Amino acid sequence: MDEALGLMDELGEDAKILAGGQSLIPLLKLRFASPAHLVDINGIKDLDYLEERDGMLRIGPLFRHKSAERSTLLTSKYHVMADAAPQIADPIIRNRGTIAGSVAHADPSGDWGSVLLALDAELVLRSKSGSRTVKARDFFNGPFSTALQPTSSSSARSVTSPPSRWRSILRWMTARWGTRESA
Ligand SMILES: Cc1cc2nc3c(=O)[nH]c(=O)nc-3n(C[C@H](O)[C@H](O)[C@H](O)COP(=O)(O)OP(=O)(O)OC[C@H]3O[C@@H](n4cnc5c(N)ncnc54)[C@H](O)[C@@H]3O)c2cc1C
Repeated sequence: MDEALGLMDELGEDAKILAGGQSLIPLLKLRFASPAHLVDINGIKDLDYLEERDGMLRIGPLFRHKSAERSTLLTSKYHVMADAAPQIADPIIRNRGTIAGSVAHADPSGDWGSVLLALDAELVLRSKSGSRTVKARDFFNGPFSTALQPTSSSSARSVTSPPSRWRSILRWMTARWGTRESA
């Protein structure tokens, strides 16, 4: 990961991290984005993890929607995450797409943003020069806009384990035909 962050630092705003590619590739196809370089993190070992440590759930940059869908840890303790995962798009997108990529992309119709906001999650932003942690509520600036530095950051996140009596309901709201936002 250090090498990838070094590359991001070197290449600057002309580079984009490629995770699952399920949002970025469509943008490239439509020419809504045209970065000169893609830094593909898929070959980096140890980025695909979900673990509880020190009372926090830690989600790696390559932890994919399909793994969330199948996680017994999420089903048993983090119900709102377990509820969200199988609702995302279709199996092909769930097989590739990542939670980190989803929040980095910050599409208002994406599900993980609302879920992490509800869980009062923290996001760990890493760059070549170090890392910092921001609350999800401070991470999202608006649609497709976050506190991530375009030049050099990657992200993982921490969610505090919810109390055992904690209950959640995930609802989707449609403002107009063809759109869907989660809350
Ligand atoms: C047809 C379709 C339907 C969809 N339906 C849903 C849905 O119902 N619900 C839902 O939540 N999502 C949906 N998605 C989006 C999907 O969940 C994507 O997987 C997700 O938004 C992006 O994750 P990714 O890993 O594919 O990221 P990528 O496409 O690889 O990257 C997306 C952006 O995030 C950046 N990025 C990725 N990883 C990192 C990282 N670790 N650190 C910093 N920046 C990073 C990339 O540079 C890029 O700018 C849909 C997508 C499609 C194409």
